Amino acid sequence: MAFKVAVASGKGGTGKTTVSVNLFHYMHKNVCKDIQLVDCDVEEPNDAIFFPDIKIGAEKEITQLIPEIDNSQCTYCRKCADYCEFNAIVVLPPIQFAEINASLCHSCGACSFACEYNAISEKPVPIGKVTFFDTGFGNGLLEGKLKIGSAMQTLLIKESKNLVPQNNKMVLYDAPPGTSCPVVETVADVDYVILVTEPTPFGLHDLTLMVDLLKEIQKPFGVIVNKAGLGNNAIYEYLHKENIELIGEIPFNQEYAARYAKGSLLEEIPQEMEECYLKITQDLERRMTDYEGNNNLKW
Ligand code: SF4
Ligand code: SF4
Repeated sequence: MAFKVAVASGKGGTGKTTVSVNLFHYMHKNVCKDIQLVDCDVEEPNDAIFFPDIKIGAEKEITQLIPEIDNSQCTYCRKCADYCEFNAIVVLPPIQFAEINASLCHSCGACSFACEYNAISEKPVPIGKVTFFDTGFGNGLLEGKLKIGSAMQTLLIKESKNLVPQNNKMVLYDAPPGTSCPVVETVADVDYVILVTEPTPFGLHDLTLMVDLLKEIQKPFGVIVNKAGLGNNAIYEYLHKENIELIGEIPFNQEYAARYAKGSLLEEIPQEMEECYLKITQDLERRMTDYEGNNNLKW
């Protein structure tokens, strides 16, 4: 059982990907060689562009079983529509119309079970793909990428996580931004969540939403303030008032921001950044050791 950590933020643009890629790099360098990065931001995965020596590996298409109604068998009894909790089926007996809205379907199979007339069959429909990358160190990157037009982010994240090899001691999920279902799916099985925020009013607002969510689902978490030195102190006052652990601060660095824009995050990392990440990896190492102890693991 790997120690699983998600890097999340209540909104985009806080530096979540920067932190994820750097933590993958520094955890591998300082703490754990058997580490895997998983890009769960399936609508816009971009972790791969930050690894200079990355090589594409295996790819797997992910499908969803979508039911189809055979009108020649259908009696328009509406039983399938009554069973569907997602309102994905429209049956209009007066005009003998029955149709499934694939974009609302969650592939639960209830309609097929309900139909007594053998009028429903299921066929696989692609929703995206999972790609394995060799990053040149660690156990590499696994990336979920949603097919354009698909709304099955949550299912694809779940399938991506199911494909993570069992040989890892640590798995790092780069979560999608926001606080909706895809984020909940990403953090569902993790042991710890790192919330990345920035010291601005927007950063504070979105952080509070994430904190409420994680308290609701009872996940342990700590906060990294990115772009420290910009903005104001309100975020620190909030953390203090709510007794939330500040696990690290990463200063805003103009030169490093420019390097991010060019995709070269892991080259010539400024000394002050190195020191920040060293402190954060020490914190994660301590949590990982506690996790191993609590689960009687010997790797
Ligand atoms: S349950 Fe079967 S027969 Fe009844 S409306 Fe649905 S598909 Fe048609
Ligand atoms: S598989 Fe489930 S969600 Fe999809 S149409 Fe059938 S009952 Fe509705």
